[in-house]
Amino acid sequence: MEELKRVDPEIYALIKDEERYQLESIRLIPSENYVSKAVLEATGSVLTNKYSEGYPGRRYYEGQRYVDRIESLVIERAKALFGAEHANVQPYSGSPANLAVYFAMLKPGDKLMGLALPHGGHLTHGWNVSISGIFWKPVHYMVDRETERIDYDALREMARRERPRMIVTGATAYPRQFDFKVFGDIAKEVGAILLADISHIAGLIVGGAHPSPVPYADIVTTTTHKTLRGPRGAMIMCRKEFADRIDRAVFPGLQGGPHNHTTAAIGVALKEAESPAFRDYAHQTVRNAKALADELNQRGFKLVSGGTDNHLIVVDLTNKGVIGKTGARALDRAGLVCNYNTVPYDPRKPFSPSGLRLGTPAVTSRGMGEDEMRQIGAWIDAAIAKVNDEAALDRILREVNALCRHFPAPGLLLAD
Ligand SMILES: *Cc1c(COP(=O)(O)O)cnc(C)c1O
Repeated sequence: MEELKRVDPEIYALIKDEERYQLESIRLIPSENYVSKAVLEATGSVLTNKYSEGYPGRRYYEGQRYVDRIESLVIERAKALFGAEHANVQPYSGSPANLAVYFAMLKPGDKLMGLALPHGGHLTHGWNVSISGIFWKPVHYMVDRETERIDYDALREMARRERPRMIVTGATAYPRQFDFKVFGDIAKEVGAILLADISHIAGLIVGGAHPSPVPYADIVTTTTHKTLRGPRGAMIMCRKEFADRIDRAVFPGLQGGPHNHTTAAIGVALKEAESPAFRDYAHQTVRNAKALADELNQRGFKLVSGGTDNHLIVVDLTNKGVIGKTGARALDRAGLVCNYNTVPYDPRKPFSPSGLRLGTPAVTSRGMGEDEMRQIGAWIDAAIAKVNDEAALDRILREVNALCRHFPAPGLLLAD
């Protein structure tokens, strides 16, 4: 980045600082990852110079000979990889993708049923501070108080009672697999459209480490930058019958020109996701989450639902006498980056909840395995026991930095 360094030393220095931080810390935020150098290169390419409103072969701009081929190729890759009938690869990110689906399929005031935010759902699944909970009428299903898993009988009962126009399955903090077939049956029974938002688990699905909703859902949305390990962006996949409505909702309904550099980088990520190495990564991500969960369980941490089937863990810190925010801050101080999170039926407020959310995609992308997860579990335990002990946190930080040096992160130039 010699030119950047010359033109804007201030931004250059901050990017370099962030790069070093990403290299030297253990990133346990389950929505984050490390993209490959190839994805970074496509993201930083001259495709950012272009305007291409419309779709391949039907643009409002001339000069699309190469961009049309790129977008068509990416659409074909997405369809093949997920087994979908139609794919739109233009949404700017996950939230606009969900908004486009609601805009395409619902009338204002229609009933939208999603997993409650404190139980792992996403803001865009009808939470009241999001447009999705203001323009449409939200109803929320929850996890069972005892098992902390989705209670499918209660879900069916609620769907029968509420008769939502759309049911959303998918989450941002749910550590168990979804039974998409049951969701599909319930949606069919009550005449609802089923949207599966697989933003968190798309990489696990294409890597064969989580079942796919594609056979059961009318529409599937996903971000491309979480477990899928692509650039920041999103895709909508759907049955052919909804293709026109979805495409028109994205453009011209909500967006202008697509981000062609992102489209190309999504294509690179999808190609990488076809590889045997990606399958290994997906399965190892789940094995790593299970190993970390096991270590934390043994150390007396209370995990929501008792453990994990996927890439993430939600920890309730109440029995440790530490609140989520304090815990997350101490961990960051010790080089372990995670986020504070609500736990189901959390007695505390959303801006200062009782739990932590941890995930293994990023550390798995660095090549870490179960042994490292056990070590990370031990560090988490030590840091949570010493949240106010700067010297202790500093000692952990130095050990974390030393481990990280053995696991170079994909896509990162070594900080120079
Ligand atoms: C991350 C996420 C989104 C939103 O994606 P952004 O790119 O942050 O807008 C939507 N739904 C789910 C389930 C997510 O995890």
